Amino acid sequence: MALKKYHKKRDFVESPEPKGKIKDKNVLLFVVQKHDASHLHYDFRLAINGVLKSWAVPKGPCLDPTVKRLAVEVEDHPLEYAAFEGAIPKGAYGGGTVMVWDYGGWEAETDLAKAYKKGEMKFTLYGEKLSGGWHLIRTKREANKPQWLLFKNDDAYSKKLNSYDVLKKQPNSALTDRTMTQIATEEASK
Ligand code: MN
Repeated sequence: MALKKYHKKRDFVESPEPKGKIKDKNVLLFVVQKHDASHLHYDFRLAINGVLKSWAVPKGPCLDPTVKRLAVEVEDHPLEYAAFEGAIPKGAYGGGTVMVWDYGGWEAETDLAKAYKKGEMKFTLYGEKLSGGWHLIRTKREANKPQWLLFKNDDAYSKKLNSYDVLKKQPNSALTDRTMTQIATEEASK
C-alpha cells in the first residue's frame, strides 16, 4: 500500500528506477540523492518500516544548526531506491540525473515511526557527509505535500555555513565519486 503513489507516478518501461521488492522493516538506512530534475534539489530519504520516507529539499541539507532547510514530503520510495544512481529519461516523471550524494545508517533514541506521525523527528546519521544529530519538524500539514524543516543539531559534526558548505566542498557521489556530468554522460552512452 505504501508504494501505491510511487508506482502510479512511474512507467517502469521508460524509467530505470526500481519497482521495489524488499520490504525489510529492520533496515535503518538513510540516503540523500542529488537530483537534477526541472530544478536541482536533494532528496532526503529515511528507511522507516520497510519503505524510504522521502523529502525533497530544494536547497539541500546544511551542517549549520542555525540554517533550517525546507523539506517537502513526497511519496514513499522502495528501499532499493537508495542504491539508484543514474538517469531518468527527460520527459518521464522526475526526469533528470540522480546521484547518491550520501548514505549510511541512522539511529534514534525514540520510535521514529511514531515521531514521524507526530511530525517531530530526532535522529542520528552515520554518513560520509552527514553525521551526528538531525531534526525534521513538520510545519505545515497539507494533504499532498506536507512541509517540514530539516536542520542539524549543534554538535561535533556541525559546521558554520560561511566556513564550510558541504554541498560545495563535497559535491560528488558517495557511491562512485562521479560528478553529475559524469553520471549523465555515462548513462547516456549505455
Ligand atoms: Mn527528486
